[in-house]
Amino acid sequence: MQFIDLKAQFAHIEDKVRARMDAVLAHGGFVMGPEVKELEAALSDFCGAKHSIACANGTDAITLALMALGVGPGDAVFVPSFTFTATAEAVLLLGAAPVFCDVDKQTFNMDIASFEEQLAWVKAEGKLKPRVIMPVDLFGWPADYDAFNAIAAREGMTVIADSAQGFGGAIGDRRAGALATLTTTSFFPAKPLGCYGDGGAIFTDDDALADLLRSIRVHGKGEDKYDIVRIGMNSRLDTLQAAILLEKLAVFGDELVARDRAARAYDDRLSRINSVTVPFRPAGMTCAWAQYTLQVDDRDALQAHLKAQGIPSAIYYPMPMHLQTAYKASGRGEGSLPNAEYLAGKVLSLPMHPYLSDADIDKVCAGVESFYAGQEAAQ
Ligand SMILES: *Cc1c(COP(=O)(O)O)cnc(C)c1O
Repeated sequence: MQFIDLKAQFAHIEDKVRARMDAVLAHGGFVMGPEVKELEAALSDFCGAKHSIACANGTDAITLALMALGVGPGDAVFVPSFTFTATAEAVLLLGAAPVFCDVDKQTFNMDIASFEEQLAWVKAEGKLKPRVIMPVDLFGWPADYDAFNAIAAREGMTVIADSAQGFGGAIGDRRAGALATLTTTSFFPAKPLGCYGDGGAIFTDDDALADLLRSIRVHGKGEDKYDIVRIGMNSRLDTLQAAILLEKLAVFGDELVARDRAARAYDDRLSRINSVTVPFRPAGMTCAWAQYTLQVDDRDALQAHLKAQGIPSAIYYPMPMHLQTAYKASGRGEGSLPNAEYLAGKVLSLPMHPYLSDADIDKVCAGVESFYAGQEAAQ
């Protein structure tokens, strides 16, 4: 059993992917070839954002979005502490200050009360200018963008959604990509919509920001690429990856349904075990199911028990950002963000992908059940 079965997906779409890749090999436009524009249009159709700007990876997508807003030294960017490294890294690379916020224990996403506390603290200190709120759609559930957008409007701040794990998710009928002023995503192979290497994109409805992003992703180009009008980056999406993504996007809607079906099957079985907390389902939201993540006591022992039966699992994430060696100077130390610290010790993600069979799901559930049955017997 695979944790994420990319081979099963490839078997399903192989002919189409190979044909798309062959077309790129034939036309030879490997950088910014026609498939990149085609993909950007298809992504916009899918998520409802006016502009899609493809780029080299999800970390760059965050960096580009921050650069488009002119974020730099003296600016505060509010991020959840319980996330993947890149969220904080991009902020620090630009010389800005990440302000770590706690997360909600049920949704794993940035907690509004904690954000308000950190904002009040930054204002009281008076050293940093609050510029950006960057919630993360952790494991595939959208953050509470209605609340964060309202706060951003009140404070004169901008919301960047880090939807690296959330692309495909929705609040009501508004999909990730259209939930914030700027949305970033990643096409790393293991993300819900992944390519066969690195890739990313930024989404926005704002024409001026879209123009800036298209310039910054190609060295800050002006009218043409030898007219440089600002500091930019080299962060283009390879044409081959765009070609692959076009075929993956064609089946993505069906895959999201299959992911949710697998999640419901896990929910049905595992919610019956007292020691296991299954993922919370916020009302009115759709999850992209980047991960199916339990909260359990005895996490490490459960993981070893599953491994012994050939069942892969993973810990996302074992350490919150405010305690990382490289970032801790930006945080307020152990005990400051209790939910992020708690979750780092309790989370365990189970195999999740659209091609999980009923037999796979049964095996995983039986593995978890037998661990807790054994524990109860021993007591
Ligand atoms: C994967 C991920 C990123 C970074 O994406 P890359 O394409 O790997 O650079 C950023 N934020 C979150 C929450 C992620 O999960």
